[in-house]
Amino acid sequence: MMKKHSWAEPYKIKMVELLKITTLPQRRKAIDNAGYNTFLLKSEDVYIDLLTDSGTSAMSDQQWAGMMLGDEAYAGSANFYHLEKVVQEVYGYKYMIPTHQGRGAENILSQVMIKKGDIIPGNMYFTTTRLHQELAGGVFHDIIIEEAHDAANYHPFKGDVDLNKLEALVKEYGADKIPYVCIAVTVNMAGGQPISMGNLKALRAYTENLGIKIILDMTRIAENAYFIQNREPGYAQRSIRSLVKEICSYTDGATMSAKKDALVNIGGFLALNNTDAYEEASNLVVVYEGLHTYGGLAGRDMEAMAIGIKESISDAHIKARIGQVIYLGEQMKQMDIPITEPIGGHGIFIDAKRFLPHLHQELFPAQALAAELFIDAGIRTMERGIVSAGRNAKTGENYCPKLELVRLTIPRRVYTQAHMDVIAESVCNVYDNRKKIKGLKMVYEPKYLRFFQARFEKIK
Ligand SMILES: *Cc1c(COP(=O)(O)O)cnc(C)c1O
Repeated sequence: MMKKHSWAEPYKIKMVELLKITTLPQRRKAIDNAGYNTFLLKSEDVYIDLLTDSGTSAMSDQQWAGMMLGDEAYAGSANFYHLEKVVQEVYGYKYMIPTHQGRGAENILSQVMIKKGDIIPGNMYFTTTRLHQELAGGVFHDIIIEEAHDAANYHPFKGDVDLNKLEALVKEYGADKIPYVCIAVTVNMAGGQPISMGNLKALRAYTENLGIKIILDMTRIAENAYFIQNREPGYAQRSIRSLVKEICSYTDGATMSAKKDALVNIGGFLALNNTDAYEEASNLVVVYEGLHTYGGLAGRDMEAMAIGIKESISDAHIKARIGQVIYLGEQMKQMDIPITEPIGGHGIFIDAKRFLPHLHQELFPAQALAAELFIDAGIRTMERGIVSAGRNAKTGENYCPKLELVRLTIPRRVYTQAHMDVIAESVCNVYDNRKKIKGLKMVYEPKYLRFFQARFEKIK
């Protein structure tokens, strides 16, 4: 008999949250009331919620116990010192400033490090990160490898930097115009794709001589470490903990949204090694977040984060976390559902262009597909295509992005393998009936970030 080595969750369930099971007519009514926009659905009408992995993780009993140890002193809370110690030990950075979430850290970092007219190269943009760079007077430049822009390209490290693209920027603008390179681990907008240790080392060697710093967007660093352990030659025997620390060792600081990898519902921080930059940041945080020993968080939130960080770098945890995502992706591949490959760290991205080839992009295929997935079994997903891309502010024309995707993001430690089976079966059911999907018409379009609040009607 063939030996199998199945993964399983390294925890058991102590408390459950009951889900409402709805009927088909109820779901049809709910999505119609929501203007065919999954952001406008009520959470209580959703059966399996795959809208995002941000702030949706299940905390452990240890984290909940930690919440009771909240020291809610205005200044110098014991939980701050615990969190600081964990950040120093796990990631190796010298200084840590808590913030209410990732974008709070991005704001402060950008104001401290960017001068007007500076160039900020990065391995693909992230919405809030780029906005804060721009608000501080910087200009973002994408230096990710070309393979990252192709959903069907099977490159193991689609988050890698193209050093030639960086060199071209250095030649054009000069190294003194580039305060730092912003490196995401893993790259969210490319579908949770990792950067390799080899690429990061080469980037460090190149930038060090030029005086260019490296700042990590370390939101999903443990997931990135897992891909290095499993795909990059020479790293198979290394622990996630040691890989996480090595990644950080090639960088000068980091912004963290603890709502993802660090297994909490709210929180983030800024980490730095340079004393001058830290002193400036710890002064600025008072303006935007709160005193540098709480940064907009309650003491209990910092305690849950300190414990969550330690749990996030356990090999057993991350193996099961990504194992579940890959399990779902493999199920969908077996059913011939077109998805982005290789399968990323935090979710499955369905290629709506290949799923609904009969729909023109102006009929919002990914938006329509997300609505159909909700109607079929109450599964909530998110559009990442023409609606999210928005319009050109000058010409008023829709941006027509190459990627027209529906994102199925998996919250950490929340759903079971049986839920994954239900999701795959529902996607398959919608796929069998895909020719009946006619697309949508936008009937209300808000001015900013329209995907959050736009409303649609079904084309009859
Ligand atoms: C979520 C996210 C952020 C922003 O963090 P918030 O906690 O939502 O403010 C930044 N970068 C990446 C890659 C993210 O996924």
